[in-house]
Amino acid sequence: MRDFDVIVIGGGASGLMCAATAGYRGKSVLVIEHTRKIGRKILMSGGGRCNFTNIHNSPANFLSENPHFCKSALKRYPATQFIELVERHGIEFHEKTLGQLFCNESSKEILQLLLTECEWAGVELVSETRVEKIAAEANGFHLLTSGGEMRCDSLVIATGGLSIPNGGATAFAFDVARQFGLKVLDTRAALVPFTLQPADLEYIKPLSGIAHPVSVSCNGTRFEESMLFTHRGLSGPAILQISSYWNPGDSIEIDLFPDLNLEEWLKSQRDQRPKAELKTVLSGVMSKRVVQTLCDHWKFDGTLAELSNKRLAQIAEQFHHWQLKPSGMEGYRTAEVTLGGIDTDELSSKTMEAKKQPGLFFIGECVDVTGHLGGHNFQWAWASGVAAGQAV
Ligand SMILES: Cc1cc2nc3c(=O)[nH]c(=O)nc-3n(C[C@H](O)[C@H](O)[C@H](O)COP(=O)(O)OP(=O)(O)OC[C@H]3O[C@@H](n4cnc5c(N)ncnc54)[C@H](O)[C@@H]3O)c2cc1C
Repeated sequence: MRDFDVIVIGGGASGLMCAATAGYRGKSVLVIEHTRKIGRKILMSGGGRCNFTNIHNSPANFLSENPHFCKSALKRYPATQFIELVERHGIEFHEKTLGQLFCNESSKEILQLLLTECEWAGVELVSETRVEKIAAEANGFHLLTSGGEMRCDSLVIATGGLSIPNGGATAFAFDVARQFGLKVLDTRAALVPFTLQPADLEYIKPLSGIAHPVSVSCNGTRFEESMLFTHRGLSGPAILQISSYWNPGDSIEIDLFPDLNLEEWLKSQRDQRPKAELKTVLSGVMSKRVVQTLCDHWKFDGTLAELSNKRLAQIAEQFHHWQLKPSGMEGYRTAEVTLGGIDTDELSSKTMEAKKQPGLFFIGECVDVTGHLGGHNFQWAWASGVAAGQAV
């Protein structure tokens, strides 16, 4: 039987960060990953360039039943600390938009950073190893694994959420939480594209591949970013963001001209070029195909001179307040994250330790803390990993 101070189950973002932090404190640490590839989601992230944090990260960027829970960990390990680590490893990066930091080269660099940190901290990593049974004992935990029996004083569960099941995601964290009597809140896919009702899809599908800057709102929350038309419905950053706030049956409202008072602008255009077609004029400020499709669908036609003030107001209203009722979401197959998870009431916000089970810690995405798109989810993985790594 192998004996460690700390066993971390899950070789992803939070698990590796936690393991290195604990290793540097002189703890003997083992990370157990069940797939062949450690850190697979890191490699997939940010379109292969890993949006590893966000310079504007704050507790306001997270959804949770308890919005205060994430504050302590984020305060003690803010984005600036991870940026320093990235700089120390000589990784070049850039701000893409809205404070989102991406590697110039590849996500591989962030995974290599974590693996190097683990190596320097003396952490042992094993992959393709399954944990079959966990039992609490007097001063720690006994694990039955496909690699033999193991024990540890502290056990950290860092197995992530349910998104991308064919990438290694499992419900392991939630099962362990339930085994020890911890409450698990309902989970659902988030940061995920919307599917549309057949009637909407029929006219929207031909626009597949076109992106347009929008402001989209649902249930009192609004995001101003880009939207992408797809052959299944709608995607792009604005849509992924609002998906975290959407419930089945809700409508979303899309403002296709967030930076323009369309009614006033159309009136001024009418003064300047009354004979111009509405569609031609709109095509100056939006993709011609989108204009054509939406104007045909909404039956907006004619020259500007033919359009009364009342009609222009109706047209502007439609473009600024497009109401759409998605039929659903694409689900965990394409979702970036899982909303919900282990109830934060069950954990210490300082250490991530389970209140009911000393020595057992939960970190990263399995906890009911879900970030906005833009590097916030990794920032939570780093911060919660460090919080537990300092306490194990
Ligand atoms: C396509 C995609 C792109 C993304 N891009 C970004 C981005 O650019 N920026 C950002 O901030 N966030 C991004 N995210 C979200 C981010 O990847 C996650 O929030 C983050 O990885 C969560 O860290 P974690 O440690 O909790 O889980 P993970 O990083 O998912 O790690 C969990 C690990 O546990 C392993 N595991 C699961 N079950 C078991 C088990 N039973 N036994 C042993 N091991 C197990 C998994 O195989 C995995 O290696 C993206 C997500 C996806 C899917």
